[in-house]
Amino acid sequence: YAKEKGKNNVQWYHSSIRTKHDQKLLLEKRLRIATERKDFQLHYQPQIDLGKKEVVGVEALIRWNDKQLGVISPGTFIPLAEETGLIVAIGDWVLEEAMIQAKRWSDEGNPLRISINISPIQFQRPDFVKKVESNIFKTELTPELLDLEITENDLMYNRDECLRTLHLLKDLGIRISIDDFGTGYSSLSYLRKFPIDTLKIDQSFIKELVDNTNDQAIVTSIIQLAHNMNLRVIAEGVETVDMVSFLKDRKCDEMQGFLYSKPLPPKQLSEFIKSTNPQNVLCV
Ligand code: C2E
Ligand code: MG
Ligand code: MG
Ligand code: MG
Repeated sequence: YAKEKGKNNVQWYHSSIRTKHDQKLLLEKRLRIATERKDFQLHYQPQIDLGKKEVVGVEALIRWNDKQLGVISPGTFIPLAEETGLIVAIGDWVLEEAMIQAKRWSDEGNPLRISINISPIQFQRPDFVKKVESNIFKTELTPELLDLEITENDLMYNRDECLRTLHLLKDLGIRISIDDFGTGYSSLSYLRKFPIDTLKIDQSFIKELVDNTNDQAIVTSIIQLAHNMNLRVIAEGVETVDMVSFLKDRKCDEMQGFLYSKPLPPKQLSEFIKSTNPQNVLCV
């Protein structure tokens, strides 16, 4: 009996592995098709300047609603895209699409800074700076409105090469942000050398900000660090008014989170700005 049970266990084990493997293959197949068809959307999440009391920027976040598999979150498919190299084509699409949209808003009299997430695989390619440059040329977006988000870990790998790339990007007149700041292992002495503009405090430190004194200490330190280095600082994942008042007291520059708005399709984002900016209703 025990032997049989063991055998069953082994079978179950194998079949579950197989299912997971098959699932991944199917996901990869669908992702490949979606990439060829550019079957993605970009949603935009507002970033609110607490001093100006208005939306000064938006972060572009990719969305994928597959006909067969349904909605797949970027947290699931971006790692697979990186593993398979599809991220290069997807990233090219995101960069161009987001810049075209930002140019459209700018032409409508609503210049918004556009933040675009860049995968290390894109960033490390020798033609990356050229791609950014040719998109600036093609879309005619003011480079000052373009902001690229890179995580600190990505910058710490191959530091000298990264430093060179960052300087070339800065020469184009664009902005650089460090995403998910505080979760990585960046060396502060290196960080000081990087020509960056903004630190984005990771949402994991904001989540329990109101009750957790350790998180309060970390967030206060990051804001001070940023300001001492003449950088701007954005808090991600801002969900409550209490979080805003803590961050406002410590002079955090910008807020991004569900309290203000979730990421929205372009039309709804325009409507959000029209309805909030004149009244400053959402700026506590
Ligand atoms: P991220 O760049 O750190 O983006 C912030 C994530 O937090 C987004 O999730 C956003 O929807 C979510 N978020 C915003 N405000 C709140 C809030 O108040 N509470 C909570 N709980 N979450 C909030 P999303 O859109 O699922 O994206 C997840 C990650 O996927 C992004 O993290 C980024 O690393 C990656 N990603 C998204 N779009 C792209 C893209 O176009 N290219 C690349 N390379 N990566 C992307
Ligand atoms: Mg980001
Ligand atoms: Mg982030
Ligand atoms: Mg991230």
